[in-house]
Amino acid sequence: MVSPANKPDIQRLALCLGLALPVGLASGQVFFCLFVATLVFLICYYRALCGFLNFIRHGAEDKLSDLPGIINDLVREFELLRSHYRQREGRLSDFLSRFQEATAALPDAIVVLNEGGNIAWANDLAARYLGVHWPQDSGQRLANLIRHPDMAAFIRRKQQDPADAKVLVLSSPVNQQLSVEIRVQGYGERHLLLVARDITELERINKMRKDFIANASHELRSPLTVIAGYLEVFDETTDGCPPAWQAPLSQMRVQAGRMERLIDDLLQLSSLESANDEGLDGEINMAELLAGVCSEAQTLSGEKQHRISLELDQELCLRGNQRDMYSAFSNIVFNAVQYTPAGSAVHISWQQDEEGAHLAVRDSGEGIAAEHIPRLTERFYRADAGRSREKGGTGLGLAIVKHALARHNAVLEIESEPGVGSTFRCRFPAQRIIRPAATEGLRLSG
Ligand code: ADP
Repeated sequence: MVSPANKPDIQRLALCLGLALPVGLASGQVFFCLFVATLVFLICYYRALCGFLNFIRHGAEDKLSDLPGIINDLVREFELLRSHYRQREGRLSDFLSRFQEATAALPDAIVVLNEGGNIAWANDLAARYLGVHWPQDSGQRLANLIRHPDMAAFIRRKQQDPADAKVLVLSSPVNQQLSVEIRVQGYGERHLLLVARDITELERINKMRKDFIANASHELRSPLTVIAGYLEVFDETTDGCPPAWQAPLSQMRVQAGRMERLIDDLLQLSSLESANDEGLDGEINMAELLAGVCSEAQTLSGEKQHRISLELDQELCLRGNQRDMYSAFSNIVFNAVQYTPAGSAVHISWQQDEEGAHLAVRDSGEGIAAEHIPRLTERFYRADAGRSREKGGTGLGLAIVKHALARHNAVLEIESEPGVGSTFRCRFPAQRIIRPAATEGLRLSG
């Protein structure tokens, strides 16, 4: 194809000039003959370059034989690059088909969205879970195919903050019986990787668990009310009661009370777990709510005379569910009273901060060892089981707090040092804050 040996270009030029010189000397036209020889040399190179261009453009190899030196080198370099490129292309296409086979074998649906939020690729399961068909839906907006009210907002939020770890659970647009959990991860240049997982079975088991706890608690409540009722009757007529019965009866009353609290807490937890987003937009007057919690905490403290102080921003209100928030804050404050020695201080503060607002409850009690802190919001987890039971605790209080806060997009932070005390902080996002003055302004302008 390409002749391997070519004379160096300088030799060729020298040969042309060498042939032209005697002719020039013989004819007395030296410069003219040298000029003609140089022109012939350049024309040959120009034709060779045209042949090379033709080869690059159309792959025509017929004009490539006997090319002058430097152009022949160019052709060889070009051939080398082309063969490297073909090898790389082959490797890439192998890799791509292996990648496509692997993603097709994944048990999850995968959709790749480009920077504009349009579909750039999808695997086979995306059709079954989300109704996204590849390549037919290439370039379509995902929100146009999945017409769920939260979908467009979810994708928009992920585009603004790719590190946001929230997931979206919805019924599949293709099959309403199918529950899918959607996760979105940002990568590369503003691309998004959407992974949808079938969680129908998980949801079913979870619902069964919740229903079982709620039903068992309901069923237990009625017999317990009867037992507690009879125990109360005994209490009122203790005179006729043999002295040997009095201690067991008193124990029974204490245990029946514990069981009632346990059932109440279990029912509250299961109603928080299965609650939807309704009733979360009420305006909560925090000054009033916290004053009520403080006065109940003082009653609970009784003779122990805890010094309970409240510091709050009077104008700062919360958007949420009054009952949930009462239950969350009272659990934390009552714990502070119960796990703090008589006469010590419990300080409650409600303030705005740079992220939103927070309620902090600080005590100077026994504190909690670091290894227990991450597990305190688990059901029935106690740092000191004996102490908690002795104080009548159910082990469910902080689990209730966590769920009530999660419904309000809030989180619980716990700081504690054994022997020094603990601070429980509920952090609310800015969207949950209401300032009545601002609200008034809005109402007037509306
Ligand atoms: P309980 O009904 O046992 O109080 P909670 O869920 O309210 O259950 O609290 C879980 C555990 O966290 C408690 O058993 C206790 O060991 C620990 N705890 C909670 N609040 C405090 C506090 N203010 N000081 C020390 N320990 C606490």
